[in-house]
Amino acid sequence: MSGRMQDAADIVQAATGARYDVAVAGGGAVGAVLACALADLGATVLLADPWMGVRNSSPAFAPRPLALSLASQHVLVSLGAWEQMACDATPIESIHVSEAGRFGAARLGARECGVARFGSVVAAAALGATLRDAVARRSAIHCTRGRIVDADVAGDLVASRVIETPEDTSFSFHASLLVVADGGHSELRDSLGIETTMRDYRQSAIASVVAARTARVRTAFERFTPSGPVALLPMGGARYGLVWSCAANEAQALAELPDREFARSLDAVFAGRFGGFDPVDERTLFPLRLVRAKSIVDERVVLVGNAANHLHPVAGQGFNLGMRDVACLAEVVAAARRDGSTPGDAAVLERYRRWRRPDHASVARFTDVLVDVFCHRFSPVAPLRAPALVALDRAPGLKRALARRAMGFGGRVPRLALGQLP
Ligand SMILES: Cc1cc2nc3c(=O)[nH]c(=O)nc-3n(C[C@H](O)[C@H](O)[C@H](O)COP(=O)(O)OP(=O)(O)OC[C@H]3O[C@@H](n4cnc5c(N)ncnc54)[C@H](O)[C@@H]3O)c2cc1C
Repeated sequence: MSGRMQDAADIVQAATGARYDVAVAGGGAVGAVLACALADLGATVLLADPWMGVRNSSPAFAPRPLALSLASQHVLVSLGAWEQMACDATPIESIHVSEAGRFGAARLGARECGVARFGSVVAAAALGATLRDAVARRSAIHCTRGRIVDADVAGDLVASRVIETPEDTSFSFHASLLVVADGGHSELRDSLGIETTMRDYRQSAIASVVAARTARVRTAFERFTPSGPVALLPMGGARYGLVWSCAANEAQALAELPDREFARSLDAVFAGRFGGFDPVDERTLFPLRLVRAKSIVDERVVLVGNAANHLHPVAGQGFNLGMRDVACLAEVVAAARRDGSTPGDAAVLERYRRWRRPDHASVARFTDVLVDVFCHRFSPVAPLRAPALVALDRAPGLKRALARRAMGFGGRVPRLALGQLP
């Protein structure tokens, strides 16, 4: 498939006072997929982002590997957005979890869990390019370059404004529903008075691509070290996407090391098992925090993706959780359209809230506990970590249950995540 890249010239200038079924603030991965899913239901969508149409620069698609769960992959297949990316995606067929300096590891094989793959690894930039094309193919999506600010509810509509980039001019619009998908530092969420809880991990993640001298194809590695988790995600051949989380000052120092010393430090983390590494790509730093919105719905407003839950990247869950937000929201909006109600109706948003809350709570708790248990030298449960990995390795039932959740199939699974229409 050779979709058309969206250029600034393709951006539709929305007229002041225009009316949409849904306005999406944020054209990152979650906002873009949601806009496609809603357009496929027949909704008119305004998609706004200050980086819209600016190629290869959006911070939302900054260089990093993304492990997509099988459920996320199904969502992209359902929207016709997978085929284009498939040739750049590497399947994950096994996962190896270990702790630096201790014996014992847990190995999970996709086959023993009843699937051919747990998911796939893609570069964020490849996902960004695919989604730009997917958005550009849908005429029901009006893209605009700018940020959505403020929201006033009047009757069955929300009135809002886009401040255009870079001109700083603005236009107003109305929508039945305003979706806040503007990421973990969501200014829109804050301006709407939606409170958050925050934990600063005082860690940063270094993302990059490395080549291993001895690679184990299609295997993902997660190694817990006293200063943080290090993930190697297969990206084809000997290449691995690296996500190395550690104390912020340590990460800064590692990011500044010459290539050879950086490769040596990484080799030491894996006790030489890969026979050495060659850096392939630049290193990008991401500060790590847990930020959770106390409420994910408000009057004619709904939060999705990182704007609702900004997680630590350990276990690679943030985008996958956001894809389940998209799939559930698309399903409740589809049901609303069949019933003759509008997407922003309180009952529709309440259905979304009740469906998403347990998944949000358990995934946020899981990643937070992983950081506490595995990433601190003096954790009270430190002596239990290695035996726990060995026990997991010998418990096929537990492995299958864990894998099922990690693939995005825990709880009530939305139809898009099963590859069906909502
Ligand atoms: C190093 C690293 C590795 C990761 N690995 C994985 C992984 O393997 N698997 C996984 O599932 N997740 C992973 N994640 C998490 C994942 O990247 C995020 O959860 C996901 O990309 C969030 O997407 P989003 O669209 O919600 O937010 P963002 O990507 O932050 O996008 C928000 C968008 O909103 C725009 N915006 C801001 N303000 C406004 C406004 N007022 N109006 C309109 N637009 C606005 C921004 O320009 C931006 O484009 C990783 C994260 C990191 C840092």
